[in-house]
Amino acid sequence: MKQKKAYKYRMYATEEQANILARTFGCCRFVYNWALRQRTDAFFQRGERLYYNQLAVMLTELKKQEEAAWLAFVSSVPLQQSLRHLDTAFRNFFEGRAEYPTFHKKHAVQSATYAANAFTWDGKQLTFAKMDTPLDIHWSRSLPKGCKPTTVTLSKDCANRYFVSLLVEEDIKHLPVVKKQVGLDLGLKSMLITSDGHTYGNPKFFAKDEKKLAKAQRRHARAKKGGKNRRKAQLKVARIHARMADRRKDYQHKLSTQIIRENQVVCVESLSVKNMLQNHSLAKAISDVGWSEFIRQLAYKAEWYGRTLVRIDKWYPSSKRCFDCGHILDSLTLDVRHWICPECGVSHDRDINAARNILAVGLTASACGEMIRPGAAKANRGASPRSRKPK
Ligand SMILES: [Zn+2]
Repeated sequence: MKQKKAYKYRMYATEEQANILARTFGCCRFVYNWALRQRTDAFFQRGERLYYNQLAVMLTELKKQEEAAWLAFVSSVPLQQSLRHLDTAFRNFFEGRAEYPTFHKKHAVQSATYAANAFTWDGKQLTFAKMDTPLDIHWSRSLPKGCKPTTVTLSKDCANRYFVSLLVEEDIKHLPVVKKQVGLDLGLKSMLITSDGHTYGNPKFFAKDEKKLAKAQRRHARAKKGGKNRRKAQLKVARIHARMADRRKDYQHKLSTQIIRENQVVCVESLSVKNMLQNHSLAKAISDVGWSEFIRQLAYKAEWYGRTLVRIDKWYPSSKRCFDCGHILDSLTLDVRHWICPECGVSHDRDINAARNILAVGLTASACGEMIRPGAAKANRGASPRSRKPK
């Protein structure tokens, strides 16, 4: 089965390329924000819904006006792609997967996406419209042989590093079927606890980075506003953030691949369920480990490799329910790590018991026919959610 897969590499821009990119990023951001304003206004003022097609026509009109003539100095392809990104953001919002789209900011990650008509790929080098030299890409892993990128995204992060991400169609073979099934619970001390009692993701892994970050942040806070040292200190902070994010993502990828390889069915609780707990320290733990990003990876890898991911969206007392007898506790505060069931006397590790309940409810939901197809099942919804491709 052909699947879309993104390959991301570090890239080094020449001065000319950096200039073109800076302009292109700015224009893409402008178009995205402009279109978001148009869509929001159309809805609130006239009850209308604007889609890609209307906005593309409006964009052509906009470019004819003198005050927006500068948009014509960059390739028009990434500008149209910005409208598509906005379409996707709205679709994710309407289908309950994301918040209402927000404006793109100047100091966040910048990016521009090019469709195949805006670049040439000769199997070795990538050259863009309006740039005379091919990109200097650091090929940290090889692309599948004979592949043709369908879209390419160029980006620059807050630490001033450039990246290129190539989306290719690739024949990914399903893995041989295995017997194992697993439930995953998001832990407080470890990132992840499985129903068979394994824990993953010790926070100490990032402790060293956190210390360095705190030091850099203190230095940044002390530097005089507007001075050269402050800018330097700020870049240093951004670099540490970037490295931490890289390490975290790297770790998540290894772990999600491992879990999908080892198990035929994986059951997880969605983040919205977790959020119901409304606990500050938990909220921090969630943001730290990037639970939703982790589930996103599990979802698309399950689809690639022919596994089933069951997402439990309905609220379910996974922590408070005794796995062995079904007794439900009145309350279980977050500091309680172990408890003994008053009904059957079994002693539980809080997280493992929760993970086992998650597996049980996920399997029940999928057996009742609520599971739609491999990869993207949701336990409480009748409709099949769209499969999401990797970013
Ligand atoms: Zn019990």
